[in-house]
Formats: sequence, structure tokens, C-alpha cells
Amino acid sequence: MSIEEATLPDRDERLTAERAYELYWADLLPRDARFACVGTGCSAPLICACLDKPEQNLRIRPYFRSYRLEDHAATCEVAHGRGETRTEKRPDVFEAERPAGHFRREPTPPASPAGDRSPRRVSASQTAGLPPRASHYYRLSSLVQKFLEHRRDRDLAEATVDIGGETTTYEALFRNIYRQKVVDLLGTRAVWWGTASLRATREGGYYLRFSRPFRHEDAELRPTITITARDIEAYPVRKLLRARLDKLIAESGGYCVAFVWAKPWMPKDAEKPFVRFYVNNLDHIDVRGPEILEELKNTSRVGA
Ligand SMILES: [Zn+2]
Repeated sequence: MSIEEATLPDRDERLTAERAYELYWADLLPRDARFACVGTGCSAPLICACLDKPEQNLRIRPYFRSYRLEDHAATCEVAHGRGETRTEKRPDVFEAERPAGHFRREPTPPASPAGDRSPRRVSASQTAGLPPRASHYYRLSSLVQKFLEHRRDRDLAEATVDIGGETTTYEALFRNIYRQKVVDLLGTRAVWWGTASLRATREGGYYLRFSRPFRHEDAELRPTITITARDIEAYPVRKLLRARLDKLIAESGGYCVAFVWAKPWMPKDAEKPFVRFYVNNLDHIDVRGPEILEELKNTSRVGA
């Protein structure tokens, strides 16, 4: 059974498996960190699977699990799902900026808009059922994971995500780069994605080039992204980013699927036009192995 949320008893903090994953990669959680179930009257010990795997796809992703089903209390709706909390779907929330101190050693209260306040302290006696809660994400990678799952489940058009107070569907947010007229899209901030080639630069950064082009007059322009060593050094989850990128270069020669939340950019009057994505926050880029394309193809055949 895979569980999405748990508490971290040491920090008295309720968190998602994605959050536990980034805390581990920011050296703020040990690999064998112990968590507890958030169910009513339940304190079953949980561990987080796949915490130390740099790669993520449909089969490999962080999630909580208990050792034994019997560890959960009889009243625990997480283990013995009453189901109601799952059916009331709220949009996921993508926060463009992290709160200050998000990677301090002490916990920070989760960013909760008014009306979405959930108790931080979740003790067995206090909890009366699980209020439906929106999931707040800060790394694009967390949204990409949801995108892959919704694509597999064929509900991209119904699944919604809130960004800066605007709600959109996963289907509208994620845009494949494919021979579209780039001048019409320069104002379009979206999650642009497609296959790409990745290489390390001599300066200790990385360079990405998408395989598919945008269209500009008679030309085809393949957008690029540069990730500088300086930006990586300033990024709290740099260990994960580097591990993920280096693994792709080592295992697939840099062939990958890249995702970036940005607007395409073109120079105003360059002799030779080109398209770039500027990423000033490394939370807004994600790169996956080519196996996700295969996984999606295979899962779409099921049920077809
Ligand atoms: Zn439980």
C-alpha cells in the first residue's frame, strides 16, 4: 500500500513523500528516517520508499509504507480507507517560490492559504478524520510525476493545478514542443516538454537542447537551456539535480525527456534567430530518463 502523507515525529511536521524526498537530498533527513501514519488514532511506523533513488518514473517514486498492515489502528482511514477523503478532489498547488527558510533544520509550517489550515500537530487523540487537503508542490518534478500518473490514468483534462491563484488542468499546463509558431508563444508560460539531449559543460554546469523544434518563418529552432554551475551551487536540492543529470549522461548518453516551466525567449534582432528557456529557479526544471516515454506508451495500450 502506498501512502502519500505522514508525520515526521522528530520535527512534529506533516509532509508528503515528495517533501521527504527533497529533505533527504538536501541532507536534512537520514536514509532510514522513520515516519508515522496520519490516520485517526493511528501512529503506525512508516518508512519512505525510494528515498535515495535519484531517478523517478512511474515505477520508481517516493512513497510511504508501513511494515505490516496490522501496525495501523482499527480507526485508521489511511489503511482501511473509507474513501470519502479521496473522492473530494482539490487542485494541486504549485508554488512558484519557496517560503524563506524552507530548508532550515527546524520545520517550517506549510504554506496554507486561508481556509486550508490543517493541524500541524497531529496526535492520536486530536485527529478527527482527515480533512481533504491540497498538496503544495515547489519542485516542478513533483508536478511532472503527477502529470505522468494522470496521463497513465487518462484524466489529464480533469486533474487541476493551481498556480498563482489560477486554476488550470494538467492537460493545458503541459505543452509538447512541436513545430508550433514560436512568435505566437513568447508570452506563454507553460510546462514545455519534449525529448532532449543533455551534456555537462566544462564550467561544471549543463546544457540541454530539445530534439523537436519550434517554427520561425522558414526555420526550425530547437530551444536550449543552460544550467550554470553557480545556479546549481545556490540550489538547496543540488545533490539530487546533479545525481539525476549525471546518471542520464552516464546511462543514456544524455538522451532524456526535459520539462521546464518558462516562456520561450527569442532575441529581438539577432542575425540568426534562436530560442531559449531561461530558468532562474532550478525548482522549475525537471529531467527524466527516456524510459518514461516507453512507460507511457505501454500504459496507454492497456485499456485501449
Ligand atoms: Zn494508519
